[in-house]
Amino acid sequence: MAVTKRTSSNVLLDTALKNFYAAAEEMGLDEGLIEILSRAERKLCVSIPVTMDDGTVKVFEGYRVQYSTALGPAKGGIRFHPDVTLEECEALACLMAWKCSLAGIPYGGGKGGVACNPLELSTAEKERISRTFAARIEPLVGAWTDVPAPDVNTGGQEMVWFMDTISKMRNRLEPAIFTGKPVSLWGSKGRTEATGAGVATCVREVLKAAGRDVKGATAIIQGFGNVGTYCALTLVDMGAKVLAISDITGGYYCPDGIDVKKAFDHVTNHPKHLLEGYEQPGLQKIAGEDILYLEADVLCPCALEGVINGDNAHKIKAKFIVEGANGPVTPEGDAALPKDVLVVPDFLANSGGVVGSYFEWVQDLMGFFWTKEEYNQRLLTLMADNFWRVWNYSKEHNVSMRKGAFMVAIKRVADAVKMRGVFL
Ligand code: NAD
Repeated sequence: MAVTKRTSSNVLLDTALKNFYAAAEEMGLDEGLIEILSRAERKLCVSIPVTMDDGTVKVFEGYRVQYSTALGPAKGGIRFHPDVTLEECEALACLMAWKCSLAGIPYGGGKGGVACNPLELSTAEKERISRTFAARIEPLVGAWTDVPAPDVNTGGQEMVWFMDTISKMRNRLEPAIFTGKPVSLWGSKGRTEATGAGVATCVREVLKAAGRDVKGATAIIQGFGNVGTYCALTLVDMGAKVLAISDITGGYYCPDGIDVKKAFDHVTNHPKHLLEGYEQPGLQKIAGEDILYLEADVLCPCALEGVINGDNAHKIKAKFIVEGANGPVTPEGDAALPKDVLVVPDFLANSGGVVGSYFEWVQDLMGFFWTKEEYNQRLLTLMADNFWRVWNYSKEHNVSMRKGAFMVAIKRVADAVKMRGVFL
């Protein structure tokens, strides 16, 4: 019996399915497992009636998808965006299932969202949407069933509204259901730095794998937001030299090395958190895109998707690309990169964020909180272990790290389904 492959008119879901089938075929995965893992376990659609500030009633559409719970509770963010659909949630939940699996944490994959435009909503309207949405998905969420987190246009405040609503409905505090909460309300120290620090750890390990030391290595960081700043700061702490950084205001290049702490203070104090106006001796201001083509050991794209593509990949001079952003190198970019460039893929390199969420959940379940040093030490150890798992698998099977990561991730979920059996 041949597998009937699912397709979707939603590009994101269709791509996620195609990638899964390709990896599954390459791995020789059992047909039954392919059938199981190409479908979400559970999809919930809810309507969210809300009284708007002007007294009218509007009904918003909301979704929560649990793609897999084979390894543990479904894990993944909730976004507020006008384009949110059930198919998009399913695609993102599928990617979360592989990401959590690869990260070696006891989570499945989930995702959710509300189709709304936060730019057109008052804070009070956002609170009413958040609370009604939380109440409608209440039967699904729980510390041992489904653990949502922030995503596009949601953050600590929304997580607190969700937590408070579920806690009131159940008449007991439920802090471990939502991660990404503020430190003052059952959040975790270290989460802000986690993704960037994890990217830097992958830089250190890939250099080690190539027989190089991170001390004295040179790096370029595109994007100086949450991921880029903490990646740059951690690299400098490790002894690397950051030659160039960039944000929407352009590129900032210094052959002697950017004073990353000074640049970090500059963006922290800038009213829009930008590098605009940043100065240091020997600094050259260049076009933002041009920093991608500078000579350096490592390039960390930490801004947007698709920045290295079929048109510009051949211009890259760095020997290692460690993807901090989601999807910065397109499939065409991968194919057009000079043959000696090694890419550490996004869902390995930027998984520090989800590992950090897992640490928050662990602390909430214990009701006992770690110091930032304990958190960092555990994070960096796990990230390094994950890097080597993928590195070794890729070498053993003679595939790229991107393909290897995908195969390692699918295998862990498939093994769990096989051991647990197919009933429910
Ligand atoms: P952010 O908004 O804090 O920072 C983005 C940075 O990129 C800003 O400095 C912005 O000015 C810069 N930027 C935007 N367009 C640019 C361009 N054309 N050239 C140069 N710089 C540009 O976002 P973030 O949280 O740091 O996320 C960055 C990427 O990492 C996204 O792809 C996100 O999905 C991914 N990611 C983030 C996390 C996390 O925990 N924050 C986790 C996993 C993946």
